[in-house]
Amino acid sequence: MVRVVPDVPAIHRRFDYRVPPGWGHDLRVGSRVRIELHGRRVGAWVVEDHVSQLPGVTLKPLAASSGDGPPPAVMAVAEWAAWRWAGPVSSFLGTASPPRVVRDAWSRSPSPAGPSGPGPASPGGGSVELVDGVLAAAAHGGDRGDHGGDDRASVVRLAPSLDATLVVLELIHRVGSEGVLVLVPSWARATQLAARLRRAGVETAVMPDGWAQAAAGRGVTVGTRAAAWAPLSRLRAAVILDAHDEAYVEERAPTWSAVEVVVERARRDGAPAALVSACPPLTLSEGRPLVTTSRSVERRGWPVVEVVDRTGDDPRTGLFSERLARLLHSVLDRPEGRAVCILNRRGRARLLACSHCGALARCTRCGGPMAQDESGGGLRCRRCHDHRPLVCAECDATRLKTLRIGVTRATEELTALTGVTAREVTGSSDPSDSAGLSEARLVVGTEAALHRVTRADAVAFLDIDQHLLAARFGAGEETLALMARAARLVGTRDGGGRLLVQTRLPDHEVLQAAVHGDPTQLGGPERDIRRTLGLPPFGALALLRGPGAPAYAAGLAAIDGIAVSADGDTWLVRADDHRRLCDGLASVPRPVERLRVEVDPADV
Ligand SMILES: [Zn+2]
Ligand SMILES: [Zn+2]
Repeated sequence: MVRVVPDVPAIHRRFDYRVPPGWGHDLRVGSRVRIELHGRRVGAWVVEDHVSQLPGVTLKPLAASSGDGPPPAVMAVAEWAAWRWAGPVSSFLGTASPPRVVRDAWSRSPSPAGPSGPGPASPGGGSVELVDGVLAAAAHGGDRGDHGGDDRASVVRLAPSLDATLVVLELIHRVGSEGVLVLVPSWARATQLAARLRRAGVETAVMPDGWAQAAAGRGVTVGTRAAAWAPLSRLRAAVILDAHDEAYVEERAPTWSAVEVVVERARRDGAPAALVSACPPLTLSEGRPLVTTSRSVERRGWPVVEVVDRTGDDPRTGLFSERLARLLHSVLDRPEGRAVCILNRRGRARLLACSHCGALARCTRCGGPMAQDESGGGLRCRRCHDHRPLVCAECDATRLKTLRIGVTRATEELTALTGVTAREVTGSSDPSDSAGLSEARLVVGTEAALHRVTRADAVAFLDIDQHLLAARFGAGEETLALMARAARLVGTRDGGGRLLVQTRLPDHEVLQAAVHGDPTQLGGPERDIRRTLGLPPFGALALLRGPGAPAYAAGLAAIDGIAVSADGDTWLVRADDHRRLCDGLASVPRPVERLRVEVDPADV
């Protein structure tokens, strides 16, 4: 007898089935089967075996075997994830299962070279000390809110142009390749990393195609977000490159984070986990050991960042400062020179500035962007909803104006300014149309352009305030991450890499952090605001949407330690930590109506 979870998200129950005679030796917890359920044949996973049968109950037999699924350790993490992100366990088991039917993955022979294979040579250099730090941090096991005791993760802060692959190679050199999991944010990075590891003589499985190889414990496992669920029976070590990248978080509910899943797996297996980032956000770094290079090495890993103060300029004179024009000319005068200009063109991102002194209208409480309050006539903060009269905080003038310009106009104007045909790239541009892009010498676009272009001599943010003052609390950290991405395109300061930002907030801590190649300049102020407002990591949040939200929100509001507030058709649920939040979400019965629960929402 076995107990199964059906592959039907709406069904949270488990069911018992009889194992037909003749098959059973390869059936184990995690195996995929097909069952008859309510007259339909559906997929399912075995979650318990050797279940005892209640007397007088006749069980249906399993209908078919569909091969191997996740190992028991991953099954257990899926149960944890179902609690942590308030979603059906079947959605995690689906991600953790092989893309095609795999049989007998667990009995395959390990690598011919032996259990670990010959380790690669140590790449030496600073990577030795960094890995020393990662292993030392894991040996202690910290007590950190979300994962409780035995958190084995450390944050490795590495400037954008420093080579994080050396950390991966050194770690493999130290612990062997078997059971090592490495996550990267994009498919392109996964194939690059795998090629590089193989050149170093390291056997490498790339997920999802390498599922069976990973299950057999052969070599290092590499992949993107879904590889957090790779079928390793036991993690020996994990590395997450660019751990701040939003690609690690699933947008659809359940909104799970690959970083959190890997950290939990490492905790259970007592394995070190290195969260590598040029600009670690507070939700990763708070309470965790920090491993980093010397200040001078870190600083040299950032490009020169030039801040152009536009406060006194009239927005009608154009978007292009003299210094921007000079930079573009100096880059484009060289035959191979290449420049990228970034503009957040979404109409929502309108900012208000004082008509008299040009200062941006910001919240005095949280630093967020102010919008004109439609009902009252004053100003209301788009982040914390604080209210104040319609007066410039700098000069007491009472007239404000809206700043706005689109990518298309900027593209035309830049073509006119430089005499080089500018190429426009936005999130909606056809990604397959990248042939021309690699030749374009001047690219203008939204931040999507930073994902599409691989190299440039200079990147200019035409109006970085649109990013800094986006109406979400993470806007500062996200802007620094954007600058780190741009920094990687242009390379180090010694190699001539240049970033230019046009701003009305020249002293903003994000810009100062980039100028000095020192992300700690952002951490302090950001931490104070988050703590004051009870925002992550000093609180846990969930957003509720859909017709079922009102009833579910009412149930949550009755729980001690949980606060619920409505904002239009969404409900924000707050608690001091994830234990309270997730226990609460699990304890209230789900309404029949559609309900979307987004745990750890970014858009707040
Ligand atoms: Zn003013
Ligand atoms: Zn505010």
